[in-house]
Amino acid sequence: MAGRTVLVTGGAGFIGSHLCLRLFDEGNNVICLDNYFTGRNDNFGERYGELISSKRFEFVRHDIVESIVLEADQIYHLACPASPVHYQYNPVKTIKTNVIGTYHVLGLAKRIKARLLLASTSEVYGNPQVHPQSEDYWGNVNPIGVRSCYDEGKRVAETLVCDYRRQDGLDTRIARIFNTYGPNMSVDDGRVMSNFICQALRSEPITIYGDGEQTRSFCYVSDLIEGLRRLMDSDFMEPVNLGNDRELSMLELVQAIEKVVGRRLEIKKMPLPQDDPSRRRPDLARARKILNYEPKVTLEEGLSRTVEYFSRVLGVKKS
Ligand code: NAD
Ligand code: UDP
Repeated sequence: MAGRTVLVTGGAGFIGSHLCLRLFDEGNNVICLDNYFTGRNDNFGERYGELISSKRFEFVRHDIVESIVLEADQIYHLACPASPVHYQYNPVKTIKTNVIGTYHVLGLAKRIKARLLLASTSEVYGNPQVHPQSEDYWGNVNPIGVRSCYDEGKRVAETLVCDYRRQDGLDTRIARIFNTYGPNMSVDDGRVMSNFICQALRSEPITIYGDGEQTRSFCYVSDLIEGLRRLMDSDFMEPVNLGNDRELSMLELVQAIEKVVGRRLEIKKMPLPQDDPSRRRPDLARARKILNYEPKVTLEEGLSRTVEYFSRVLGVKKS
């Protein structure tokens, strides 16, 4: 294959599928590697036929807990379930994916001299005691809780990336991704955006965990993809927060969805899960300075596109 070849691990997942399409549309050769735990080829929608018949796109079914040899110039390493429901389903597997899987992907990058970008997470900050969170904050993470397989797994993944950079001179990038949403999230994903929107569309009560005062800052997926592309093409090797810095409580999120669906929604309070972070907002100063990154899609616009997507998937009208 002529041209640049880009490997995307976790390429059939929510973020991975958007990234694969963006890279393909830029003219790259794309290898989409996935074990299909939470990913699906349906995420490529009507483009699937075009991809499967293209010489520039390859689907590889593989679990990165096992090593693999491939040729690529760049690697976006996204493979890992991101929803608490999915990563807690088999926590030992989640740790293996983050630690052994990342070790294998780094070994591959070293062998083939590829640049590697790790999809890390705001979860490395745990339940933060500093607000908003900037990259120099070391976090407040419970090492033995139900979220630890993911949080600590990603922290070790970052450590591995930095040690391979220092020890072997690997060309690496670390993106600390904050809550991202948009089309291709699974209906049964369990994360707040898909839960609330699907509940609203099905006229079911909205399940608020705890008092609903906890906050998150939601980034529409196209803004995140732009940030990932800019980071990969930069020469900056320290971690960079990527997301949207508009912060809102879960109760405010319900109100924003009410505006999009055009009706009041019934709320059902449920227990707050263990170690659920109470506040989260990215400090984007570094991304703005180094990458000239600026999230563009407003919450209202992003929600309306996501409601549109789920109403198509569920086959129900929004109001
Ligand atoms: P997702 O669950 O939709 O995608 C993850 C993909 O990785 C899936 O296709 C899954 O099948 C695949 N996968 C999981 N384990 C694997 C393994 N052992 N081998 C090969 N493939 C495997 O999640 P997402 O939201 O698209 O997240 C993608 C990445 O971004 C993850 O690394 C996640 O930690 C990170 N991230 C996401 C968010 C977010 O809000 N979506 C926030 C922070 C970080
Ligand atoms: N949440 C909620 N109802 C749901 C799902 C999640 O109130 O049906 C809350 C959850 O407790 C958390 C926030 O929404 O405070 C974001 O949860 P999500 O699982 O989307 O992401 P994370 O906690 O990993 O940021």
